[in-house]
Amino acid sequence: MPSTKPLTSTDNFPDWRQSGLRYYSYRFRLRELFGHRVQKVSLDAGFTCPNVDGTVAKGGCTFCDNRSFSPSRRLPRADIRGQIDQSLARMKVRYADCEHFLAYFQPATNTYAPVDRLRDLYEQALEHPQVVGLAIGTRPDCVPEEVIALLNEFGERSYVSVEYGMQTIHDRSLDWMNRGCHHDAMLDAMRRSQDRRFEISAHAILGLPGESHDDMLATARELARLNVDGVKLHNLYCVKNTKLADQLATGEVTLMGQDDYVRTVVDFMELLPPTMVIERISGDAPPDYFIGPEWCLNKGAVKREIDAEFERRDTWQGKFCSSTLRAEDSASREQETS
Ligand code: SF4
Repeated sequence: MPSTKPLTSTDNFPDWRQSGLRYYSYRFRLRELFGHRVQKVSLDAGFTCPNVDGTVAKGGCTFCDNRSFSPSRRLPRADIRGQIDQSLARMKVRYADCEHFLAYFQPATNTYAPVDRLRDLYEQALEHPQVVGLAIGTRPDCVPEEVIALLNEFGERSYVSVEYGMQTIHDRSLDWMNRGCHHDAMLDAMRRSQDRRFEISAHAILGLPGESHDDMLATARELARLNVDGVKLHNLYCVKNTKLADQLATGEVTLMGQDDYVRTVVDFMELLPPTMVIERISGDAPPDYFIGPEWCLNKGAVKREIDAEFERRDTWQGKFCSSTLRAEDSASREQETS
């Protein structure tokens, strides 16, 4: 069983430069960890969300239509085993060389249930012979102590990544999106998740209305300070039947252009530690739900533009991260005194 924590000491620096990319990609990380290709398979366990059922807010996040977020939610729901089998059959052509998968509890809030139910669902996923770990998407205000203990327990026997929907550090943006919690919820979840046997990943959105370039980079600096294990990034995009769709239609909100996104995402990654895994650099939704911006549907082109921007600047993830700068500074001081 591979270690469930990423390598963080400089002695064991994960040499993602071998990947040919200028950032530490999740694909590289999983291959490094398991020794072969591993893909996520999305599951819908039927959870809701405290921001949808009225517990912390009503109506959900401004941009959220859960059906658009996951292939699994758009299909009639089978049990966990059945969903995995159906998805693997669909993925066979595209991922012919892949035999191992992470069960990805994706839509809604996947820790929002009594612990016994969570245990049963996670267990069902791990019982599948091709599933080698769990990825669990949730909100930072939905991990009470007993849930953290459960995630830790699963992390002791398998790879577990807990993905917190942080989105931004700016409370005014969290209010704008009707998130129902503030950044202090993320800080609290981080404090209680540190030094557990699961990885912590944070989801962040670039291009939120009212956020300046500096505001977005402040989120990057905070992620570097929090030292999460992984980050998922994408631009704010719009799907049908959401409040954001109405705001876009009236011109109250505009969405980030591709050039701006590419520059910002590279600036963002320059500030993250080189040991932080970049799990995602773009986002999209199925065309039948999608409104815009059009450019983010072409994820391959977005990735190429990001790679080209790194090349053009001759830069890389972590170049301006405070820990990298401190290490460079002390190395150059050592050289001067030797
Ligand atoms: S917290 Fe997640 S699932 Fe809940 S409304 Fe917001 S985006 Fe949707």
